[in-house]
Amino acid sequence: MSRFLAPAYHNLVPYTPGEQLNDRKYIKLNTNESPFPPAPGVCRVIDEGRMRSLNLYSDPALTALTGSLAESFGVSPKQVFCGNGSDDVLAFAIMAFCGKGGTLACPDISYSFYPVYADLFGVKLTQIPLAEDFTIRVSDYVGIGKNIVIANPNAPTGLSLSVKEVETIVASNPEHLVIIDEAYVDFSNDTCVSLLSRYDNLMVVQTFSKSRSLAGLRVGFALASEAIVEDLNKIKFSFNPYNINTLSITAASQAMREQAYYDECVAQIVAQREKTKKRLADLGFVLTDSKTNFVFASHPEKKAEMLYKALKERGVLVRHFNAPRIKDYLRITIGSEEQMEGFFAELTRIL
Ligand code: PMP
Repeated sequence: MSRFLAPAYHNLVPYTPGEQLNDRKYIKLNTNESPFPPAPGVCRVIDEGRMRSLNLYSDPALTALTGSLAESFGVSPKQVFCGNGSDDVLAFAIMAFCGKGGTLACPDISYSFYPVYADLFGVKLTQIPLAEDFTIRVSDYVGIGKNIVIANPNAPTGLSLSVKEVETIVASNPEHLVIIDEAYVDFSNDTCVSLLSRYDNLMVVQTFSKSRSLAGLRVGFALASEAIVEDLNKIKFSFNPYNINTLSITAASQAMREQAYYDECVAQIVAQREKTKKRLADLGFVLTDSKTNFVFASHPEKKAEMLYKALKERGVLVRHFNAPRIKDYLRITIGSEEQMEGFFAELTRIL
């Protein structure tokens, strides 16, 4: 630490991203990326002409991108806010609505970035324990009187609340914002977008990083009331007006026109997920009923940390969280057929 860091940040514990290693070729099943390339139309749209336009700033209003998202989701472009990955969107939202001294509640086992943002922005965070089976107890959030962020489906457990259950939480906290982080929602059937027309305290956050095969592009978005989006833009234009670059705007806008391709990719990942669950169960693993592009699995006899290390030595990366209650679990991203065969070959040898 230099002697210049502001005292407010001395105790900040940053988020730890999954390993992005280049020392050898890995079967990479650790950061929930798609095994499929972006849609062919998306690859074509970043052409030389687009590159040549990079002397100019990107559009700070993001007109093309918010327009194609609004059309896809049947909302007004004024209800769409975009960021440099959904992490950026979540950061803006927590900064804007929970701010210094504000409140935020989230499950104790969830996306580990929420507590980091809370700490960074001086938010009073309440972490609500999941039930023993890792489910979110809806009753814990009813009328809680705090802003709320819930990943649905949740990560790393993979479990999903129904739209009805989310509605119960949103309806019972009308004076507080409920952020539903739907990073993995395309692998389930539980999107809460339909609730937006009835609840002005709901924000739905999604990303291009998972089902749309564009993790490296860094684009995420929020759908919410026009007033909420106006507030988010107030913060954005006070911090980083050009938060998405021209190439990302172009590629993400095109991705929204390639739904058939992405539906097919999602169908293959979901089929592979169900197959993976069965094969892991046959090997003695205990699993949650994940509705995402990863599975969350524990072996009653083999320590997860040992499995993680042994897999890594053999060129397979999965995610292990050395955290209370989940240290016996591995989070394994669903890869291609070939990647999963490679994973199972190594896993079977280790076991
Ligand atoms: N929310 C959840 C629950 C996630 O798992 C992730 C991926 N790490 C994100 C948000 C952020 O994704 P991105 O910034 O790539 O959109």
